[in-house]
Amino acid sequence: MLRFFNTLSRKVEEFQPLEAGKVRMYICGPTVWNFAHIGNFRTFVFGDVLRRYLKFKGYEMTHVFNLTDVDDRIIKEAKARNISIDEFTAPFIQYFWEDFDALGNERPEVTPRATHHIAEMIDIIQNLLDNGHAYESEGSIYYRITAFPDYGKLSKINFAGNIHGGSERIDTDKYDKEDARDFALWKLVGKDEQPGWDAPFGHGRPGWHIECSAMSMKYLGETFDIHGGGMDLQFPHHENEIAQSEGSTGKLFSKYWIHSEFLKIDDVTMSKSKGNFFTFRDLREQGYSPLAIRYLLLSVPYRKQLNFTFEGLQGAESTVERLRNFRRLVSDAKTPAGSVPATKASVDTALADFETAMDDDFNTASALAAIHDMVREINTALTKGDLGSDDQAAVLDAVAKFDSVLGIFGTEVSEILDADIEKLIAERQEARRNRNFARSDEIRDLLAEQNIILEDTKDGVRWKRK
Ligand code: AMP
Ligand code: ZN
Repeated sequence: MLRFFNTLSRKVEEFQPLEAGKVRMYICGPTVWNFAHIGNFRTFVFGDVLRRYLKFKGYEMTHVFNLTDVDDRIIKEAKARNISIDEFTAPFIQYFWEDFDALGNERPEVTPRATHHIAEMIDIIQNLLDNGHAYESEGSIYYRITAFPDYGKLSKINFAGNIHGGSERIDTDKYDKEDARDFALWKLVGKDEQPGWDAPFGHGRPGWHIECSAMSMKYLGETFDIHGGGMDLQFPHHENEIAQSEGSTGKLFSKYWIHSEFLKIDDVTMSKSKGNFFTFRDLREQGYSPLAIRYLLLSVPYRKQLNFTFEGLQGAESTVERLRNFRRLVSDAKTPAGSVPATKASVDTALADFETAMDDDFNTASALAAIHDMVREINTALTKGDLGSDDQAAVLDAVAKFDSVLGIFGTEVSEILDADIEKLIAERQEARRNRNFARSDEIRDLLAEQNIILEDTKDGVRWKRK
């Protein structure tokens, strides 16, 4: 039975989807103004594991993961370069997906972009204006917090005494708001200013929060199962999403809310603004593998903070190497027919412990411990000759099951032999001599896929493994 912590109730609850066998989930995605750092990826990798575990439990998933492709930072950077926001974000969207895929994440079913959903945002804002949850002031549209008595139900922030801007977390900007807590739904911009969109209530651009209300409800319906994101999104972002959505529909927005804790570095939150971050690419350039980075990010349960260190990453590198060697060793083992009961029991226990751990608020640390226990016991069984062919199949099947959720063993790439590499290189040289460049490029790509890098030198072709 899957149980996890619901931020809305501040309790660990048993998961009951709204519709039997199906889960509708929304996770806030990146703002594509720069490269995502590995703190961002802690949140996204956890989202991926959440998704995969729900699939493991047999649910059919509709998972929406948005890209924020319009915000103040994007507008500022695009302006500075004198290009459109689309031109500015296009490469960062591409880099994001490259990193996301390289980290072994599954692509969610729907990955909408904010700028493609302005019409849906306008509809909600119009609805909020019509039903008194929003008002116009100096051309911009604001949410009227006093019209939504449930405001604060997610973040549990006590607003008493802060109504008129006492807290530093509440932005008291220059606009004339009725209440300091009120937030912008639509910001007035000049007719010729970019970016700007026409709406019945004026030419402008959306506030940050409205996009997630619009994209989640469009693809998941007015009420859905799970909404997630990093800890810092609880307030104001998710609190405001609830106010917008429930203020507009009068219905519960999301049944469960999940927030993952921060990745820190030297005990300070990793963030762009502090400059204390590493991107996925930084770590790749230093030679660390995507699997090790993923392993490190999953090594601590999502509700605990994780302190990033290079020793930790190095340790993760050795661990994933050990896991991969284990899988290879088991799959190459010559085993006698049948099964040894104690060996079979190790596999069954590991599978049961893995599921118990993940059912317990997605405890990835305990789930990994169950895997390591099995690896240790099966290694012993191997040396004692206690691995039968049925056990061998059961171990490989268990590894595949674990990895369908965690993705830390990675895909099995067949080791290409030196002799085969030499043969392919000779064939490539021959193809080039015959000016068959299509074939020569094909061979280069084939080798690149196996992590073999070719270097054309004056002394001929040299190659190395990456
Ligand atoms: P952003 O691209 O700034 O919109 O952030 C994308 C996601 O990364 C959000 O869910 C944030 O909560 C999350 N995030 C930002 N910094 C960290 C961090 N140091 N550790 C974990 N998650 C983070
Ligand atoms: Zn969001």
